[in-house]
Amino acid sequence: MAAETALIKYFESKETLNIDLITLPVLKEVLVKYLHFWVKKSREKDGYVYCYTCGKPMVIGTHDCQAGHWLPKGGFRIHKFNPDNIRPQCGSQCNLAKAGDYEVFKNNLIKEIGSEKVEEMYVTRNQSSKKPKIWYIDKIEHYWKLRKEI
Ligand SMILES: [Zn+2]
Repeated sequence: MAAETALIKYFESKETLNIDLITLPVLKEVLVKYLHFWVKKSREKDGYVYCYTCGKPMVIGTHDCQAGHWLPKGGFRIHKFNPDNIRPQCGSQCNLAKAGDYEVFKNNLIKEIGSEKVEEMYVTRNQSSKKPKIWYIDKIEHYWKLRKEI
């Protein structure tokens, strides 16, 4: 993707980036790629990632190994890019057939990050998700750097 290449060049050299040439939908697409990879890769152990809601072992890069959202990304866009709202999930059951397995996902999140954070995500779920392009560029850079460290 040309836009992704331009962004990486910008991160590496800090040379100028013509922000007008990159559209918001493209920035969102690139962020999804890097964020979802990090969500999976940071939890990988001995070549496997485990489904957050059923524990099934999965391999990154396969169709079954997906990034699931606790609060649905379509309805509550503010948390679409919130790493606390995203965990590896199996596509064969939990993410698709069980639509994220909401209750199990929630209980596991409470155990992992605490009820306060989970409650805060829930109460803010209808807030505006509008962010400027630079917000997306900063996030992409953040996960791009993490990707190199994993
Ligand atoms: Zn599962």
